[in-house]
Amino acid sequence: MLDSMLRNLSKPIKNISRCVKSRNLSTYLGNTPKEAVDCVVIGAGVVGIAVARELALKGREVLVIESASTFGTGTSSRNSEVIHAGIYYPPKSLKASFCIRGRDLLYKYCSEHGVPHTRVGKLIVATGSSEIPKLNDILDRGIENGVKDLRMIEGSDAMQIEPELQCVKAVISPSTGIVDTHSLMLSLVGDAENHRANFCYNTTVIGGHLEDNRMFLHISERKDLENCISKSPLLPDLILIPRLVVNSAGLSAPFLAKRFSGLSPGIVPASYFARGCYFTLSNVKTPPFKHLIYPIPEDGGIGVHVTLDLDGHVKFGPDVEWITDIDDASIFLNKFDYSVHADRVESFYPKIRRYYPNLKDGSLEPGYAGIRPKLSGPRQPPVDFVVQGEEIHGIPGLVNLFGIESPGLTSSLAIAEHVAAKFSR
Ligand SMILES: Cc1cc2nc3c(=O)[nH]c(=O)nc-3n(C[C@H](O)[C@H](O)[C@H](O)COP(=O)(O)OP(=O)(O)OC[C@H]3O[C@@H](n4cnc5c(N)ncnc54)[C@H](O)[C@@H]3O)c2cc1C
Repeated sequence: MLDSMLRNLSKPIKNISRCVKSRNLSTYLGNTPKEAVDCVVIGAGVVGIAVARELALKGREVLVIESASTFGTGTSSRNSEVIHAGIYYPPKSLKASFCIRGRDLLYKYCSEHGVPHTRVGKLIVATGSSEIPKLNDILDRGIENGVKDLRMIEGSDAMQIEPELQCVKAVISPSTGIVDTHSLMLSLVGDAENHRANFCYNTTVIGGHLEDNRMFLHISERKDLENCISKSPLLPDLILIPRLVVNSAGLSAPFLAKRFSGLSPGIVPASYFARGCYFTLSNVKTPPFKHLIYPIPEDGGIGVHVTLDLDGHVKFGPDVEWITDIDDASIFLNKFDYSVHADRVESFYPKIRRYYPNLKDGSLEPGYAGIRPKLSGPRQPPVDFVVQGEEIHGIPGLVNLFGIESPGLTSSLAIAEHVAAKFSR
């Protein structure tokens, strides 16, 4: 019986053992092989990669476990690619402080490592006098957060800078930029690997349990997880026993944490999901704008804005569509519906024409969609990033990252710096 189980397990163990460089995979607890490792980062999105790199730079041995076949296939490749200045977030929140620190670290990293990016600048616009108080609030909040270069300008000045724009006043943010996210992640992965971090793809953390006051991670390399995730018990192929675990599983992070037996379920915040769709501007030789253009924020997002990419393509989005009809297994396996339904475009035209009245009928084409991992639901006030260590949940060496929505890309290097400084001494 044990023999046949080991024969079945031999392929998965062989694969992961390449990553863990195992010298001793022959120690078993029950039927499952175990391996002690230094650090495990769960999830190779931009945040997990940045954390892995930072830990590796500090001399830790890092193993990144990623369920997809490569890095950055989740939210990290489905966003606006904007380097945010740090304007909108409540003062002293993690979002504000990580965004501002992360922005500076990101510009420095991109310059030093040749990652394509540009400080394109952005205008936040009031399209009618009723929006001016909100614009004033945004300016005040940005200044309070330490975004020193923000300025309010008259609509006429904004429209001189951007002739296609229509607005009555605007806040200009010169330190907002755009970055090629894939190049960024590729560079960070390379840097992490150069410091001996290992990335193990097609491998899923399916849960964990607490033993000897340490988190034992249950690892699976099954290709058919979809068919068996809801069956209990789901047997792991391997148990990893890390000194430090960083749960950076993005949309799945709270659901994964709920599968850590020994972690009090009450510690895991409620999660909500809000899809954001983008539409691209077709048949344009010259982009209508040189800056990013943002309206006043809406519930759940920062408004259907104009984003430019580094190739000069123009996209509008993301809108906000709350997702309610998804089961736990699909969330855990990242089986979200990322399709952009063409009929959503109807709501885009009027929103965009408030600041871009010359937008032509039929000029928008479906682009892509991303899902925001939110910790607050519709009409609830936004919730801050959550970084949970032992001081919150009582489990040594476990760090949970929850609700890493926007500005998570901008904040990635600052989150990594924080996690490594606080939890890896
Ligand atoms: C529409 C939209 C627009 C945005 N725009 C911006 C922006 O302009 N600027 C900005 O700063 N931020 C933006 N963000 C936020 C930013 O994209 C995210 O904060 C960031 O990408 C989160 O990265 P992550 O590594 O936490 O998550 P992800 O990129 O989702 O990575 C998580 C990884 O974990 C893996 N995983 C999950 N479960 C498991 C498991 N059990 N075992 C192993 N692996 C697992 C997944 O496969 C995935 O690769 C935006 C987000 C959205 C949705």
